[in-house]
Amino acid sequence: MLGSSSTLIMLLDILIVTLFIYNLLKILQSVGGLPLAIRFVTVAFILSVISWVSKHFHILIFTGWVADKVLAILLISVPIIFQPEFRRALQRFQLLRFPSSKSISFRVIDEVLLASEWLRKNGYGALIIIERDDVIGDVEAGRGTIIDALPKAKLIETIFYPGSPLHDGAVIINQKGKIWAAGYVVPIPEDINIDTSLYSHFGTRHTAALAITREKDVVAIIVSEEKKWIKIAYKGKILDDTFNASPREILTKLLIREKEEEKRKKSSNVKSRNRRQRKKGDRDATE
Ligand code: ATP
Ligand code: MG
Repeated sequence: MLGSSSTLIMLLDILIVTLFIYNLLKILQSVGGLPLAIRFVTVAFILSVISWVSKHFHILIFTGWVADKVLAILLISVPIIFQPEFRRALQRFQLLRFPSSKSISFRVIDEVLLASEWLRKNGYGALIIIERDDVIGDVEAGRGTIIDALPKAKLIETIFYPGSPLHDGAVIINQKGKIWAAGYVVPIPEDINIDTSLYSHFGTRHTAALAITREKDVVAIIVSEEKKWIKIAYKGKILDDTFNASPREILTKLLIREKEEEKRKKSSNVKSRNRRQRKKGDRDATE
């Protein structure tokens, strides 16, 4: 008698587990619109309750066992499932000090400066243009050669190595942080009107850097073959003449910090505009 009743309880247990898993899957499907985290916490909570009831009252042993195992798997998978959320949170609280790989990062600046220093030491000239808010759009029009490669110091050094087919002209690093092109010939307007009191002794490489940074929101790094220096041009000026800062400090400020601030300002402007529009909409609806 006892045997048949315990078999019945086991069958009931298995039936409950089957129904439970079936319904759980259906619920998960039907609440597809809810954020993943909320669905995740709800399922974990239900499983914990089942596991507790099973252990506490010594009933539905099989169901409790399955709930326990599924809960353990869910907890182990948290870092994998929520990896993007964790990453975003760390970035927001500045615990992860590099932006996404699809932008100018500290690594890009490091590689550019490493190459510039090597070129300077060896007496080779270079011009590296890094896009900020503007895109250099005329490469396709034959002013340069598209490369589209990761910004490695060795590649930049190879490009500017005298005798390389692309060593004349500038390298362009685009907003995604990639070496977009090389051998780019900067268009220099005839009436460039360089401040001769400051820059009269400059040749065409320096003039090209001043011209492109005056025309577009880009930063140019000049490695002088003659003067053996590394200088940064921005908004038509050579920066370290007026700013007492190293090339690394200037590049970090212009390409990472200021860009992050601009992005933050832009998104807060959009948010406050949306808020204003929502308020206006509410007011119109009540009138
Ligand atoms: P450096 O201090 O290195 O000598 P510079 O300002 O004195 O530079 P030049 O001596 O005239 O300039 O350097 C010539 C080199 O500059 C060219 O070989 C070419 O690589 C580069 N260059 C010249 N004009 C342009 C241009 N319009 N766009 C990009 N690069 C240019
Ligand atoms: Mg020269």
